[in-house]
Amino acid sequence: MAIHPRLLEMLACPLCKADVVPTADGSGLLCRSCGRQYPIVEDVPVMLVEDASPVSEDRS
Ligand SMILES: [Zn+2]
Repeated sequence: MAIHPRLLEMLACPLCKADVVPTADGSGLLCRSCGRQYPIVEDVPVMLVEDASPVSEDRS
């Protein structure tokens, strides 16, 4: 289930190129810079901005 550490090292947020870290429940990868969360589908991280969960902020 866990992402391979070497794979994780290679991954970065496509938006801001910052490091990503696994979420607490292991279901996604969280960008430490912009706070977007990328899903992991069948053990493969989906590093697409359009699939990422945006930061939940009440700003217009
Ligand atoms: Zn980011």
